[in-house]
Amino acid sequence: MDRLAQPVSVNGRTYARPQHPVVVVCVDGCEPDYITQAIQAGAVPFLTSMLRRGSSLIGDCVVPSFTNPNNLSIVTGAPPSVHGISGNYFLDVLSGKEVMMNDPAYLRAPTLLAAFAQAGARVAVVTAKDKLRTLLGHGLAGICFSAEKADRATVAECGIDEVLALVGRPVPSVYSADLSEFVFAAGVKLMQTRRPDLMYLSTTDYVQHKCAPGTSEANAFYAMMDGYLAQLDAAGATIALTADHGMSPKTDAAGRPQVIFLQAVLDARLGADVARVILPITDPYVVHHGALGSFATVYLPPTDVAAAQAALESLPGVDLVLAREAAARRFELPADRIGDLVVVADHLTVLGTRPALHDLSGLTVPLRSHGGLSEQKVPLLFNRTLRDVPADRRLRNFDVFDLALNHVNPPT
Ligand SMILES: [Zn+2]
Repeated sequence: MDRLAQPVSVNGRTYARPQHPVVVVCVDGCEPDYITQAIQAGAVPFLTSMLRRGSSLIGDCVVPSFTNPNNLSIVTGAPPSVHGISGNYFLDVLSGKEVMMNDPAYLRAPTLLAAFAQAGARVAVVTAKDKLRTLLGHGLAGICFSAEKADRATVAECGIDEVLALVGRPVPSVYSADLSEFVFAAGVKLMQTRRPDLMYLSTTDYVQHKCAPGTSEANAFYAMMDGYLAQLDAAGATIALTADHGMSPKTDAAGRPQVIFLQAVLDARLGADVARVILPITDPYVVHHGALGSFATVYLPPTDVAAAQAALESLPGVDLVLAREAAARRFELPADRIGDLVVVADHLTVLGTRPALHDLSGLTVPLRSHGGLSEQKVPLLFNRTLRDVPADRRLRNFDVFDLALNHVNPPT
């Protein structure tokens, strides 16, 4: 009996079993123009050939266009209203504390990776930063480790050990392009040695936060990636590449960050600390963006919500201010994990709390960041052609497993 016969249903969607290994790659912060420019520069021969014989589409990521909500949407095939991860960070209203949302206790839905493993498929996950590992690997009877802590992977916790020997590289610095290269190198070694049925590779946006599309550093990053993707393709894998979010310059023409300090604005308007601004981009690794992104939520006393909304809507650089229920509907977010207001800044603007709370000394180049609607467009690339995808279907990055498992044509 074929081990891989039955389809797998999870979170209201049904996925066909892979007949060949399927590798889904989430390139963190991959604004589509990074790939366009790398192709134009002749830096990525494999991607160039892959798009000639495969498919290139554009999809929408989840807003807030941040890493955790989107990675979890991709591996659950569902928006944050279903899986519960609405940011990297949120205010636990019961305790009044701001907490990292990297604990699986906050996850409200199973991942499709865990469901496939439970149904007998061999599943492997490699993530750059360790902050995502426990969420992506929740309930997964398979391999799941981070590049950041590759030396500490154990069979009991990660389904694998001796990762450094397998990959043949040292543990990379958390602020480096090497961290993402380790993910790809590990993916290739896993494919060569264990041939998983389903593999998810998730990188970090260290390079994209620093370097614009078409710069030599950005092209070098995509050239690095290109070599590993070619090896996965040569091993017979179906490759599906998407991103958690795009990336935009958040500066004026002189390269100065354009920041709206929301807490300072609301303190002046409503009185000190009447409002509480939460920046869900915040995480332990903020050197490259100073915790500045284009999405914020604000907790307010009920009587102040309307005045705060009016005050924020009129600010230059603000795209959108939505009350809790409207934001939850429009962006498919869990209403109990966002504030009374959701604020989205425009293409060139980021949102902060107070100037003193943002250390921008680590910003050695003009700020680039994400979080808003302007970073919602992401690539959906495949090394195969697709079938039965209507031209008017709104594609999301969290459709990538559906597309890769249910819509790719066999290799020719
Ligand atoms: Zn990201």
